[in-house]
Amino acid sequence: MSGKHDEWVYETVEEMGARFGIRATEKLLDEQTPYQHLEVWRTERWGNLMLLDGVMMLSSLENFVYHEMMSHPALQTHVNPCNVVIIGGGDCGTLTEVLKHREVESVVQIDIDEAVTRAAERFFPELTAHNDDPRVSLRFEDGVAWMRNAPAASVDVIIVDSTDPIGPGTGLFGPDFLADCHRVLREDGIMVGQSESPFYHMPLMLDYHRAMKAAGFAERRSLLFPQPVYPGGSITGTLARKTGPLDEIRPLAEDVATRFYRTELHRGLLAIPPFMQEALGDV
Ligand code: SAM
Repeated sequence: MSGKHDEWVYETVEEMGARFGIRATEKLLDEQTPYQHLEVWRTERWGNLMLLDGVMMLSSLENFVYHEMMSHPALQTHVNPCNVVIIGGGDCGTLTEVLKHREVESVVQIDIDEAVTRAAERFFPELTAHNDDPRVSLRFEDGVAWMRNAPAASVDVIIVDSTDPIGPGTGLFGPDFLADCHRVLREDGIMVGQSESPFYHMPLMLDYHRAMKAAGFAERRSLLFPQPVYPGGSITGTLARKTGPLDEIRPLAEDVATRFYRTELHRGLLAIPPFMQEALGDV
C-alpha cells in the first residue's frame, strides 16, 4: 500500500478558513477501521505522521510535547498517583510518559480502536516499546461506556487523550462522561483532558469548562502549550480536580527524563493568558 511520490498532506479547518500542510514522500497505511479513517504517511521532515478522519494526530518529530503535557502535569499535581486510567491514547505516547513514574502501580488504557495501537506498533515503535510493562492493561472498547461502568472512587488520575469531538470522540467531551469521571475519581483525584485550541475552538473550551464545573470539578485550569501539527500550532490540556488546589506541584523525580516538561514551566503555564482568562471568565 505504499506509493513513493511527493505529496502535501493537509488538515483543513473550514470554520477557521485555515489549512496546514506537511510534505509527505510515501503513504504507509490507509485503512478504514470500524470507527475511523486511519492513515500513516512517511514525511520529509516530520518522520511518520498519523491522521484519523483527516485530522493530524501525531508526528514522530514533535509528539513528545503533547504526550508529556498530557501526563506529567496531572501526575505531578497528585500527591501519590497509583492508579491511572487513559481514555483514548491508542498511539501509546501518553502511556509511555505515565510509565516513567515509579509511584504508578497500574495503568489501564481504553481506546475504542485497536487499529490505532497496531499502527503505532508498526510506525511509531518508540511509543509502544513499554506496552509489555506488567503495570499496563490495554483494553479496546468505548471509553464512555467503560467510565459509566467503572466503580466509584477507584482511580487517582484520569487522562483523556482523545480525538476532537467528532465521531467516536464526541461523547468524551460530554456532561455524562465528565460526571462519570468525577464519580470514578477518588476524593483527591485529578483528571486532564485534551481541550483543543483557544485560537480555533474557544466556544468548545467554554462548553468543556461548563460541563466540568457541572460535573463537580471545582478547580479547573487549561494549560496552553505548543504543538506544531495541531491547528494553529498549539493546544490545551485542561486539569481538573474535585477538591484541593491545582498549583501545588511535586518536583519531578530525577529519573523521569523529559524533553519539554519541567516543573518551572508547569508552574508558569498555570498562569493563564489574559485573553483566555477573559474568554473563560468565571465559568
Ligand atoms: N493527540 C490526539 C489529538 O489531540 O487529536 C489524540 C491522539 S489519540 C490517537 C486519540 C484516540 O482517541 C484515538 O486512538 C481514538 O481511537 C480514541 N478514541 C476516540 N473516541 C474514543 C472513545 N469513545 N473511547 C475510547 N477511545 C476513543
